[in-house]
Amino acid sequence: MTNRNIPINFEFFPPKTEAGQAKLVAVANVLADEQPEFFSVTYGAGGSTRDGTRRTVLQLNNEVGVPAAPHLSCVGDSREDLRTLLNDYRAQGIQRIVALRGDLPSGMGHASGELRYANELVEFIRAETGDHFKLEVAAYPESHPQAPNFETDLKNFIRKAQAGADSAITQYFFNADCYFHFVDRVRQAGVDIPIIPGIMPITNYSKLARFSDACGAEIPRWIRKQLEAYGDDSDSIKAFGTEVISQLCERLIEGGAPGLHFYTLNQAEPTVAVLRNLRG
Ligand code: FAD
Repeated sequence: MTNRNIPINFEFFPPKTEAGQAKLVAVANVLADEQPEFFSVTYGAGGSTRDGTRRTVLQLNNEVGVPAAPHLSCVGDSREDLRTLLNDYRAQGIQRIVALRGDLPSGMGHASGELRYANELVEFIRAETGDHFKLEVAAYPESHPQAPNFETDLKNFIRKAQAGADSAITQYFFNADCYFHFVDRVRQAGVDIPIIPGIMPITNYSKLARFSDACGAEIPRWIRKQLEAYGDDSDSIKAFGTEVISQLCERLIEGGAPGLHFYTLNQAEPTVAVLRNLRG
């Protein structure tokens, strides 16, 4: 909890090596001191990280002692693959899932899954496992990159809530107004599930620019210009990034955001620096 008692949670990706796994456990132990509500672990669409996601979730859950939620995507998995994973997670005591459509990595061809969209995955999980899992879904205050327009994407988001999602986590963004606008529009549609802003700490400009282009997150010109001007000066980038993200979080909390979800990229320090500022 931050000093304002806002729930926080941290997202990781499954490491590819034993050394990476050990490092992640160390990072998770540092972040566990921040008393997160849960950790989440991403899933490579098409099942490319099926074992790594499972192993990481169970290790964080059982050894670090913070409830861990696997991400699960339907785009390349059959119903049978999904059923097997769900039954396994339930048997292992996992109680929360981040339910997604996912994106197949380039080179893996077209979607081969039987479920096409995340609302169908939410329906499937509810049909298979009832209310056992708390289900999180993705939300896009700046619109999903493939959506033809904001209104269509909003309707598609609402399908996920109506299918039985308990809560949503947003794609990251740097403009608080887009979040408040999105939440207002969801509320006007009569949907009241919590919508937790996804927060991306800023530590490296070129990686951030690449990610943001791919996932449709806009980097405001004033942030882009400043980061470009720092060049390779990573200390200045981190100091500026911490300031920008701390102010964004402050605004979100003041405006009523029900929690914060940090995309940690398996690093503790950038997130801890922001949380330190929020505590004042
Ligand atoms: P959907 O909600 O299915 O939406 C995808 C697109 O289809 C949107 O344009 C939407 O408007 C449209 N659409 C939705 N439903 C319908 C429908 N019924 N009919 C017609 N159109 C529809 N990716 C990964 O591969 N692994 C991860 O672990 C992962 N974790 C993520 C965590 C968070 C919090 C977020 C925000 C994203 C994550 N992603 C992950 C990325 C995500 O998988 C991609 O953004 C993907 O392109 C869409 O997934 P979705 O669940 O939002 O899809």
